[in-house]
Amino acid sequence: MKFVVNTLHAAHAAHQEIFRGRLVPAFETPARAEGIAAALRDAGWFDGGLQLPARDHGRAPLERVHAPAYLDFLEGAWGEWLASGGDAQADAFPAVWPVRTLRDDVVPRNFVARLGLYSMDSGTPLTAGSWAAANGGAQAALTGLAALRAGERAAYVLTRPPGHHAGADFFGGYCFVNHAAVAAQAALDAGARRVAILDVDYHHGNGTQAIFYARRDVFYASLHGDPMTEYPFYLGHADERGVGDGLGCNANYPLPAGASNDAWFAALAAALERLRAYDPELLVVSLGVDTYVGDPISHFRLDRPEYARLGMALAAFGRPTLFVQEGGYATDAIGLNVLAVLRGFDGGGAAEAGA
Ligand SMILES: [Zn+2]
Repeated sequence: MKFVVNTLHAAHAAHQEIFRGRLVPAFETPARAEGIAAALRDAGWFDGGLQLPARDHGRAPLERVHAPAYLDFLEGAWGEWLASGGDAQADAFPAVWPVRTLRDDVVPRNFVARLGLYSMDSGTPLTAGSWAAANGGAQAALTGLAALRAGERAAYVLTRPPGHHAGADFFGGYCFVNHAAVAAQAALDAGARRVAILDVDYHHGNGTQAIFYARRDVFYASLHGDPMTEYPFYLGHADERGVGDGLGCNANYPLPAGASNDAWFAALAAALERLRAYDPELLVVSLGVDTYVGDPISHFRLDRPEYARLGMALAAFGRPTLFVQEGGYATDAIGLNVLAVLRGFDGGGAAEAGA
């Protein structure tokens, strides 16, 4: 197992977010990544050459899944926010969106209008360092992929903000660049024919699904809170199976908020069975641990033994595996939860499960 850390993650440090009508301290913070790094360091997992420096692969791999105009927008957004009168001490929040009957094919000159055009919600503060951190995450994911191509069995990419809600041309759900999608596409561009993405974050990865929905070369499978009640609400239902060439290459397993661990693992087994039949050359895991019983914004019940069991199941899948960090908002527990998954994967699962 190799580790790649997005050392630019802390450039994105939101002050506040809108939650139930109020501005509250942001849930998605640099402390999340610091907690994971501390747990991995304490376990000795950053030693002995296991940690790789993220290498810059440039913007071209991002443009394989994101619209160049959207990436241009992200790169320049903070400067435009300030130029348009935005407060340097506050974060930029979209306030208007081109919903049904409004045009989204015309790019307005007004910055606030473009902020809405390129976003899906008001829950994602855009900050001075959002682009640097998100781009850094993509570069870290590409570095992890390079380690797999060099023969590693697995790599873990420690990054934030997360990526799986980001679509080809919009941000949302704390996500700006879809790191898992960038890595999956890069694997295909390097010669792979079939890549599987398994998304175990509490929330459906609407961005990842949408990017590959009409494609056969990526199979997207996701276990998540039922979108009838859980974010992102407008995608992630069981009847979304792909379209056109991609029909049959998308599988969603929505579970009710509060679902039992037995139900979660039954869904995991079903997803892995589908992926096994697909026979991918590479498995990308969108590793959110906001499925944790103590997560402040989610409603599943997984704990350390279950995370170790997840790691073991992923190891048993038997393909080169790229873990990309997604959600997980119980900052004091996130590190040990991630460590449990990776230990389970690496064969120490039994000890972890008994701890
Ligand atoms: Zn999540």
